[in-house]
Amino acid sequence: MAWVNENYTALQDSYLFSQVAHKVADYSAAHPETKIIRLGIGDVTLPLAPVVVEAMQKAAGEMGVKESFRGYGPEQGYDFLHEALVEYYAGFGVILASSEIFISDGAKSDCGNITDIFDDANVILVPDPVYPVYLDTNIMRGRKIVFMEGRPDNDFLPMPDPSVKADIIYLCSPNNPTGAVYSKEQLTEWVAYARKQDAVILFDAAYEAFIDDPSLPRSIFEIEGAKECAIELCSLSKTAGFTGTRCGYTVVPLELKRKTRTGKELSLNKMWLRRQTTKFNGVPYIVQRGAEAVFTPEGQKQCRENLAYYKENARLIGKALEEKGILYYGGKNSPYIWMQCPKGMKSWEFFDYLLEKLGIVGTPGSGFGAMGEGWFRLTAFAGREATEEAVERFRRLL
Ligand code: PLP
Repeated sequence: MAWVNENYTALQDSYLFSQVAHKVADYSAAHPETKIIRLGIGDVTLPLAPVVVEAMQKAAGEMGVKESFRGYGPEQGYDFLHEALVEYYAGFGVILASSEIFISDGAKSDCGNITDIFDDANVILVPDPVYPVYLDTNIMRGRKIVFMEGRPDNDFLPMPDPSVKADIIYLCSPNNPTGAVYSKEQLTEWVAYARKQDAVILFDAAYEAFIDDPSLPRSIFEIEGAKECAIELCSLSKTAGFTGTRCGYTVVPLELKRKTRTGKELSLNKMWLRRQTTKFNGVPYIVQRGAEAVFTPEGQKQCRENLAYYKENARLIGKALEEKGILYYGGKNSPYIWMQCPKGMKSWEFFDYLLEKLGIVGTPGSGFGAMGEGWFRLTAFAGREATEEAVERFRRLL
């Protein structure tokens, strides 16, 4: 008899995006004349930067020649990409060793897989609203989860509560879904709290490249002492349009050590290396060459142009909401706009209103957690024309 994992029965059906798709399909069938504008998408829409494509084409060519063909690569990634990342991090003052960087097929996989190296007795602290992967991957392990509330009175940036005992803490900044970004002072408080509790922070920096404000931290390792209590997960998905190409990286500092329940001290860097070499065979050479190109001066220039395009979309949406006196978070240093539903509407009520009255699709905030009720997520990833049209529609009808 094969028993299956009972914890899966505790997962809530992830009906958010399918429910959205159903409602949009029904509306579109009933109103074929309406051009629907999708501001719900969390996927990029601009193509890969030309230097990235060239690098991948060149690498594909190498794969077809006996002398330069590559088979299995190092599970933790090629040195050339580690070196590019070491230099990238140095650009915002973070000094890393190559061996602290692990290349992966994206931050979602790492968010889930990192749970392997922690004991299931750990108490997990997650924000609400939240990127659902943190929650579901820990529910799958049957772990105790404690929520910290994101609310307007803390600018959707929950801070440590000394009376709450937590072992693993998920932080995401710039945040999905709220677009809120922690300051250095706030992250300093989190690092102090984690060190006091001997906890580990899992810091999701998937949107770091959207940060323009130089006073805001792009990495948790900009904070003193973070190397002794944090792991950083990052991704090229939004930075460089790699959502379909798949490449991310996780930084596990050499200083980071914690004990097993029987008191043996282990290096998390060594554990993660062991985990990856056992269960993962690395990211394709071609993709890693494309990723390397992102960090060249020309790659940075081209990727930053795409980011600027999305950021302008975010600015336009934010401006339209401001003109209507609607409270929102994010939109700056982030591709997400987290708006309060007008007139006290609930998230799904506003979804229906927006679709029916304006032909605009967004994402109901309640889908990201109980604290998201009454809130709504718009994204900056649509095309400029569609975003401008959406902004016009907001002006006319809200
Ligand atoms: N982390 C956050 C906060 C995200 O919003 C996403 C994607 O939407 C990811 C991680 C996943 O990124 P990847 O495409 O690298 O798996």
